[in-house]
Amino acid sequence: KLFEDCGFSTALMNAISKQGYEKPTPIQCQALPIVLSGRDIIGIAKTGSGKTAAFVLPMIVHIMDQPEIEKEEGPIGVICAPTRELAHQIYLEAKKFAKPYNLRVAAVYGGVSKHDQFKELKAGCEIVVATPGRLIDLLKMKALKMFRATYLVLDEADRMFDLGFEPQIRSIVGQIRPDRQTLLFSATMPYKVERLAREILTDPIRVTV
Ligand code: AMP
Repeated sequence: KLFEDCGFSTALMNAISKQGYEKPTPIQCQALPIVLSGRDIIGIAKTGSGKTAAFVLPMIVHIMDQPEIEKEEGPIGVICAPTRELAHQIYLEAKKFAKPYNLRVAAVYGGVSKHDQFKELKAGCEIVVATPGRLIDLLKMKALKMFRATYLVLDEADRMFDLGFEPQIRSIVGQIRPDRQTLLFSATMPYKVERLAREILTDPIRVTV
């Protein structure tokens, strides 16, 4: 299986080779066609599997496919992760693939000035990578609007639950239009995560690596 088979644009293919990614990893092989087709997905995969690119690459395609991208403001892609370290990793990966398209990526997590993040969000972005608690804070401060959000990723869902973020996740999901595409990644699928997945995903396809 090859990245070429995904129908990525030349700009995205160039960004992929610039990363040194020669061929898709197993989770990418399984997830990319499903996510690119617009379906919801449950990806059971660990860090190190290449799952970040499995949700970031189709997110770029999804954003560039929006016909009336300028009609609303606020992020189109919203990614939630359990820790600031993971959120930062995802932010760096998203930046690399967003760059050829001049898409703006905002990182929203604790340990960084809330005021600076407020200003960054107010200036506008197409992608936000966030930890749930800080994203809720900034939503309450009306730093960003979710009207435009149509692509939601919950990464390491089991760890977010372990850290007690279930109420925050439910609140964030509740603020995003129901006709969104939703992706849930988790290393394990305990009952609580399974229940959330059943509630917030639409007819998902499950892949395991
Ligand atoms: P992740 O599981 O998303 O944290 O990715 C683990 C590591 O694999 C990161 O350093 C990525 O840059 C790298 N990676 C992701 N996809 C590929 C690929 N297709 N080929 C080679 N390396 C990759």
